[in-house]
Amino acid sequence: MIIAVDGPTASGKGTISKQLAKYFALPFLDTGLLYRAVGWTLREQGGDADNPADALAACQFESALLSDPALRSEAVGGLASRVSVHPQVRRALDKRQRDFAYQPAGAVLDGRDIGTVIAPDADVKLFVTASSEARAIRRFEEMKRRGDPADFDDILADILKRDERDKNRATAPLKPAEDADLLDTTDLTIDAAVQQAIAMVNAKISGRRDKDPA
Ligand code: C5P
Repeated sequence: MIIAVDGPTASGKGTISKQLAKYFALPFLDTGLLYRAVGWTLREQGGDADNPADALAACQFESALLSDPALRSEAVGGLASRVSVHPQVRRALDKRQRDFAYQPAGAVLDGRDIGTVIAPDADVKLFVTASSEARAIRRFEEMKRRGDPADFDDILADILKRDERDKNRATAPLKPAEDADLLDTTDLTIDAAVQQAIAMVNAKISGRRDKDPA
């Protein structure tokens, strides 16, 4: 079974995906980390995020980088969003994501274009959203917990800018697949959102079984 979870930043999709992977005993890939690794490598190489050749050169990174907590910073997230607009970068990361999605064990992947581009025939597609204010509050609280300096207005502005870039890029823009189920987490606790996601996946697979009994 392939479960594709897409949605904007701080919508809760990361936590939901991890919990789905645990619940359904599936391997999990946070595809945002791949773009973050490109952003981080580009910065190390002194490249320009808006230059496609520099961004493509930064796609050659060691897999060990993916577990480096430095990738989680807001600055690296911003660079990831900028390098991800280049079709060359998306192509360079494509095979790795597809191989993960179509491994025999099945998989959960979270990102922006999993249900639309990477695994268009995923068994379940969830599109997780929340209002920009709710997402900014979550990000603000997460940064405060980590002890990072946090300014609410800056965070909200950054979220809006990233949404804008992710939704409006020409290649693989952020949008729900036509057959995705929407999960709005604005007024949900994370536990309630996870329970709802599990229920949505179960409903989808039992619906399939009813339509197509073995
Ligand atoms: O999900 P995360 O915030 O880690 O992603 C960082 C950036 O990487 C996103 O803002 C988006 O621009 C890009 N991304 C993407 N496609 C994906 C995953 C992430 O374009 N599948």
